[in-house]
Amino acid sequence: MSIAPDGLPPLREVIARHGLSARKALGQNFLLDLNLTRRIARAAGDLTSVTVVEIGPGPGGLTRALLAEGANRVVAVERDRRCLAALAEIASHYPGRLEVIEGDALALGLADRIEGPARIIANLPYNIGTELFVRWMTPEASGGGWPPWWRSMTLMFQREVAERIVAQPGSRTFGRLSVLAQWRATAQIAFEVNPAAFTPPPKITSAVVHVEPTDQPRDVDPRMVEAVTQAAFAQRRKMLRQSLKSGFADPLTLLAHAGIDPARRAETLSILEFLDLARAASAARN
Ligand code: SAM
Repeated sequence: MSIAPDGLPPLREVIARHGLSARKALGQNFLLDLNLTRRIARAAGDLTSVTVVEIGPGPGGLTRALLAEGANRVVAVERDRRCLAALAEIASHYPGRLEVIEGDALALGLADRIEGPARIIANLPYNIGTELFVRWMTPEASGGGWPPWWRSMTLMFQREVAERIVAQPGSRTFGRLSVLAQWRATAQIAFEVNPAAFTPPPKITSAVVHVEPTDQPRDVDPRMVEAVTQAAFAQRRKMLRQSLKSGFADPLTLLAHAGIDPARRAETLSILEFLDLARAASAARN
C-alpha cells in the first residue's frame, strides 16, 4: 500500500477501498490533490489556536490538509454515512484533533456547539452553499449577534456565486449577496479552481472566497439592512421608488430621508447608501 506525504493512504485508494463513488445529489465533487487542499487551508490563516469547522469533509482531502497545516481541533460535519469510516482513519492518525459529526449542516445549530474562536473552511456542496453562507452572515436570525461565532470563512463556491459575493456597486453581479457579505465584513476571492481539480469535474469553474467580519455600524439595525436590500433587489431592473414597494409602504419618503434619487436602481447604490436607507426605514418605523 502506498503512502501520501501526510502518512495516510492516497485519497484515490481511500475512495476505492470505502466505495465512495461521488453522488450528485449530495454535491459531491472531491478534491484529491493535497497541494491544492493545503493551499485552501493556508488561505484561511493561522489554524493552531482556533477550532476549524469543516462542512462536508467527504473522503477527507481538505480535512487532511487542515490537520497537516497545523489545525489542533477540527470539527467536521458530514451527511454521507459512507464517508465516516474513512474519516475515522484520519481521526486516529491525528489523535484528539478531529471530531466528526454525522448530520445535515443545515439542521445543526453549529454556533451552540463551538466554543472559542472558529474558522469555517469548506469545499461546500454547491446545492446548499449559498444557503449556508447567508445563514452565517445573518446570525441574528438564529439568536446570535455580531461579531459572529466565526472569525473567518474560507469557502469554495461556484465562481459565479463567488463573484456575486465580492461584487462592487455598478457591476452586473452586485446584489443582495454582495451587500450581505460586505456591509460588516471584508470578502475577497483568494483564487480560482479549475474544474479538472475535482473528481468528478463539475461543469463550471470554482473559486475560494475568504471573508472576515469587521465592526458593524452601531446605529444600523441588521434586520433592516436585510429588509431594504431584499426589497431593493426584488426587481433589480426597476427604479428604487418602484422596487422598494415590495417591502415598504412609502418608498419616496424613505428615499428622501436617505438622500437617494428615487430614479436610481439598486445596483448603483453604494453599501453606505444601503445603510442610509436602512436607517431611514428604522426611523420611519419608530
Ligand atoms: N471536502 C471534500 C473535498 O473537498 O473533497 C468533499 C467536498 S464535496 C464538494 C461536498 C461534501 O458535502 C460531500 O462530502 C457531501 O457528502 C457533503 N454534504 C452534502 N450535503 C451536506 C449537508 N447537508 N450537510 C453536511 N454535509 C453535506
